[in-house]
Amino acid sequence: MAMSLLYQLLIWAIVLTPAEYLFGAYPLVLASFERKQNAFLLLINACFIPVLTAVATVAAVLCLEAVVPDGFGAITGRQPFWLQIIEAVVLVDLGVYVSHRLLHTRYLWRFHEVHHSAEEMNWFVAFRFHPVDLGINAILTTIPAVLLGLSIEAIAVAKLINGWQSTISHANVWLGLGPLRRIFIDPGFHHWHHANDRDAYDRNFGGLLVVWDWLFGTLYAPNRKRVAKFGVDGPGYHSLSGLIIAPFRRPLPATSQGDGHDLPDIKHAPALSPVHDVEVERPSEITVARDDLLVGSVAQSSERS
Ligand SMILES: [Zn+2]
Ligand SMILES: [Zn+2]
Repeated sequence: MAMSLLYQLLIWAIVLTPAEYLFGAYPLVLASFERKQNAFLLLINACFIPVLTAVATVAAVLCLEAVVPDGFGAITGRQPFWLQIIEAVVLVDLGVYVSHRLLHTRYLWRFHEVHHSAEEMNWFVAFRFHPVDLGINAILTTIPAVLLGLSIEAIAVAKLINGWQSTISHANVWLGLGPLRRIFIDPGFHHWHHANDRDAYDRNFGGLLVVWDWLFGTLYAPNRKRVAKFGVDGPGYHSLSGLIIAPFRRPLPATSQGDGHDLPDIKHAPALSPVHDVEVERPSEITVARDDLLVGSVAQSSERS
């Protein structure tokens, strides 16, 4: 498990870091305190999440035996492996949408805020999660699929695909998927989820498929527009241990994202097309800003540590 994660990290570093440098959508900061934070959370979660997923799986299997009628699991379990993978991908992705939406509610936002506090967009942000955040995600993406009788191997493949998609959608690359953007989430879509912009709050919760945001009225697709600012307003996290401890200590916000608004009312959500038009031209000023930001970031990092 640990080796598999290490290999994946190595591949992402080899593939995505040069891609971010060459095709970056936003200024690239290679050395920053935020990257140290991401690495720290990755280390913590690498120990915590596999254990929690195993416990959730065992609990779901026990529940399956006790509650679900005999033979139900055998129906899905007898399906071809490829079909189980497709079903698992859809179900896991729905679990991602539901858990993500829950994490944007008042009581859970404080944990998810750790992820949103990233002010630099890059593939490493895909590993910036509080353990409570990832724990809720692990439970809601594992139990329904196990209860439906899908094989553990199919669920594992679905989670792997979802993890890859998450890494790509956080990457600082100007990657347009062409017609496939009607189906799959690309970086532009998820970058808007991280925007510190009231119009984009509580939008674009999906992980892999666009359909959930379209169905539930949370899709946000500004036409040909770049995100002006990432992150959230708040005290931030000035130490590594604070990333874990602070969410338990901070007062509850008035509502999700802590600024007086709550989840969008589905009835009044704008009628948006599933086509998100985010394939805008790559800004030419990025390469100019990159070096300045790198210098600024190193200075900021040494101030904080
Ligand atoms: Zn979020
Ligand atoms: Zn994210």
